[in-house]
Amino acid sequence: MPSKSLEELASFCKRRGFVFQGSDIYGGVKGIYDYGPMGVELIKNIRRHWWNSVVYNRDDVEGLEASLISHRKAWQYSGHEDGFSDPLVVCMKCGLRMRQDKMVDTTKCDSCKASELAPPKDFKLMIGLSVGATEGELNAYLRPETATLTYINFKNILDCTSRKIPFGIAQTGKAFRNEIAPRNFLFRLREFEQAELQFFVNPKTDMEWFEKWKADRMAWWTDIMGIPAERLRFTEHEQLIFYAKAAFDIEYKFPYGFDEVEGVHNRQDYDLGSHTKAQDEFDIKAKVRKNTDSTAKLSYTDPATNETYIPFVIETAMGTNRCFTAVLDNAYTEEDFGDGNTRIVLKLHPRLSPVKAAIIPLAKNVPEIVAMAEEIRKSLKFLGTGRIMLENSGNVGKSYRRHDEIGTPLCITVDHQSLEDKTITIRDRDSMEQIRLPASELRDYFANFYRTL
Ligand code: ATP
Repeated sequence: MPSKSLEELASFCKRRGFVFQGSDIYGGVKGIYDYGPMGVELIKNIRRHWWNSVVYNRDDVEGLEASLISHRKAWQYSGHEDGFSDPLVVCMKCGLRMRQDKMVDTTKCDSCKASELAPPKDFKLMIGLSVGATEGELNAYLRPETATLTYINFKNILDCTSRKIPFGIAQTGKAFRNEIAPRNFLFRLREFEQAELQFFVNPKTDMEWFEKWKADRMAWWTDIMGIPAERLRFTEHEQLIFYAKAAFDIEYKFPYGFDEVEGVHNRQDYDLGSHTKAQDEFDIKAKVRKNTDSTAKLSYTDPATNETYIPFVIETAMGTNRCFTAVLDNAYTEEDFGDGNTRIVLKLHPRLSPVKAAIIPLAKNVPEIVAMAEEIRKSLKFLGTGRIMLENSGNVGKSYRRHDEIGTPLCITVDHQSLEDKTITIRDRDSMEQIRLPASELRDYFANFYRTL
């Protein structure tokens, strides 16, 4: 059973150290958040499993980590400087600023319901910068997506890897958009993270690859993120942007309804084509271009057929923070045992859990018990699965509760009996069942538990 509302999830996230409002002690900045001790582990796990699936588990994708700040020209030629905007409507009565296409009723203010609205105007979403000692001249932008930096590096990567089409370039990293109305907790942010793949294909095979990636990405959400298929769906774009041939959103059922978490797009040759034009212009001005046979610098010549073309791009673009929210929302469970006892448990797939195991000495003042627990923690932490915590509060009930809430799959307790017969207990988060095992078998048990993840 997922959370009841994103407000409930947000307050849970704060209480349990997943997410805090950015610049919290100064009153916060809308649409900007910080990740606490549990949140940083969860988001890293999501990122890692995206990378595993898109890069390591395949043999046709390279990685890239491009800069956050890039040359103004990159965003002029990509079409963003002129075209990347949302329609802004301002209420003349209460001053509320709204994004027209997201308003409840475009004739009334979302807040005060007044109908005195200023005519919509294009509000630019990119955050411009003045880099260097330039007296405020706009010469760079914070990137609003990772994809453009991938196109700009296409030739660099092609040259240094000798890749042949089809192949892809994957990136994870921050993006910045000056959203008019950040909302829904981590759903619409001004600083967010993307996990994007640009897969370059021969134009003759584009739809074949599009269908493959569409299926692959949905399978990742269900099989790797552990989200039930009925909480996900594809929605086809009703109106395609001029350069797209096909576009689908993957949507997750948030407490307020289905909403986009990832896009799968066939962008044709728009991006490499746009930057190719830019390169031509630059080279002609700089008089450094010698080869005038080809107009396309970001083109590709197939070594087997000698065919030269601008590759088509199949893009999969996921918002990591939206994935984080969906995963948390889906895992959040309130259990009522009917006898007045309840618990909150985060039923995360163990591969995503921020803490892999908690070691709990049952008597915090018995040094031998604490020492044995510490030994166990040391032996498990070197298995490299992730964070292993020693919980020496002396209150086992509280420790179980806390670890249920942050989704720790296994709690391992050490008690007086452990000192006598060298056994420990392992408690399963979901069933709450406990088994007793010789401590000498724990490493194998643990390695097996996490081996299949
Ligand atoms: P939307 O229609 O919600 O504004 P978009 O279609 O503009 O999103 P894309 O540019 O395709 O989004 O970006 C790819 C992904 O990046 C989205 O599916 C989403 O998960 C994520 N994303 C985009 N904008 C934001 C944002 N402001 N906050 C958080 N995630 C975002």
